[in-house]
Amino acid sequence: MKPFAYTRATESQAAVQALLRDETSKFIAGGTNLIDLMKEDIEQPRHLVDINRLELTRIEQYQGGVRLGALARNSDTANHHLVRQHYPLVSQAILAGASAQLRNAATNGGNLMQRTRCYYFYDLAMPCNKREPGSGCGALEGFNRIHALFGASDQCIATHPSDMCVALAALDAVVNVEGSKGKRTIPFNDFHRLPGDTPQVDTNLQRNELITGIDLPAGGSVFAAHSHYLKVRDRASYAFALVSVAAALELQNGTIKQARIAMGGVAHKPWRAREAEAVLIGNRPDERVLRSAAEAAMQGARAYQHNRFKIELGKRAIVRAITIAAGERGAV
Ligand SMILES: Cc1cc2nc3c(=O)[nH]c(=O)nc-3n(C[C@H](O)[C@H](O)[C@H](O)COP(=O)(O)OP(=O)(O)OC[C@H]3O[C@@H](n4cnc5c(N)ncnc54)[C@H](O)[C@@H]3O)c2cc1C
Ligand code: SF4
Repeated sequence: MKPFAYTRATESQAAVQALLRDETSKFIAGGTNLIDLMKEDIEQPRHLVDINRLELTRIEQYQGGVRLGALARNSDTANHHLVRQHYPLVSQAILAGASAQLRNAATNGGNLMQRTRCYYFYDLAMPCNKREPGSGCGALEGFNRIHALFGASDQCIATHPSDMCVALAALDAVVNVEGSKGKRTIPFNDFHRLPGDTPQVDTNLQRNELITGIDLPAGGSVFAAHSHYLKVRDRASYAFALVSVAAALELQNGTIKQARIAMGGVAHKPWRAREAEAVLIGNRPDERVLRSAAEAAMQGARAYQHNRFKIELGKRAIVRAITIAAGERGAV
């Protein structure tokens, strides 16, 4: 690991200003992703701004919904009574990720900002446009089993690894940020980027902006009774999603009044399957409708040499997630 300077901030604006001191500066929260990347020399910040002392740990009711502090730990978020009661999809998604120890350290802000798990991103001997712009993409002609089906470019076919973010995309969460020019909000579905020609840029967060919180909107709690996060992976724990589905339904007399479907493991950002949602709305969740929704969701999928299996896997995962969501809510 390369030497770096360290600043501990106790106030948000001071953290933002400290970040401006060096163009390579990074915030550090739980450190569960950043420290690994620094040890591997993939990230080489000369200056770390520790934000763990900022008062951003609260989880509280806000405008009829719930505000999650950026520094609330993933485990505290998943187990919080407001989240479990009104947004069980978020609890389920967080608990499907990492391990108990990691979730105790990992923060909500860090979860949004975690970097891809593409093997070639971590392998300094291989080209990777995300790690070193212009060097090429090792995955395009390489072993691309875990890679994207949607929204990829000829520069990068990586996927976003977060589980929590898939639930946040389904629920139309809003990200609160603070920069040197003030505060703003970013709709969750605009927060992460597709790779395009600049795969090194993962999000639309500006360089000096700090995530301060995530709002779960009031409207999202109508899905509490009928939602499910399904994660399909190679091992039962400590594995990222090959495909995951966040399904949330509002049912009225057995008919779907509102539907939200988001997928993980299939794109550079959590992927909203709006075509599937359109198929579901106004129908009963029977097998024919669910299969049509799954077909609609995967229609635009583009596979590479080793990930074709994820198209059928995705369809089956969608059918299963919605089937479970349509039943009575189980304990989280
Ligand atoms: C073995 C292992 C298995 C894992 N499995 C899963 C899994 O199955 N599913 C899953 O979703 N995740 C998984 N993770 C990832 C884990 O969830 C993330 O590492 C964690 O959420 C990152 O949070 P952190 O607070 O530790 O971030 P850090 O490592 O501290 O920071 C990560 C990035 O976020 C930036 N950052 C942090 N906070 C802020 C903020 N408030 N504003 C702006 N930028 C910020 C940092 O500058 C850094 O670039 C796994 C991690 C490990 C090590
Ligand atoms: S898919 Fe993206 S992250 Fe993976 S090697 Fe290619 S450019 Fe790098």
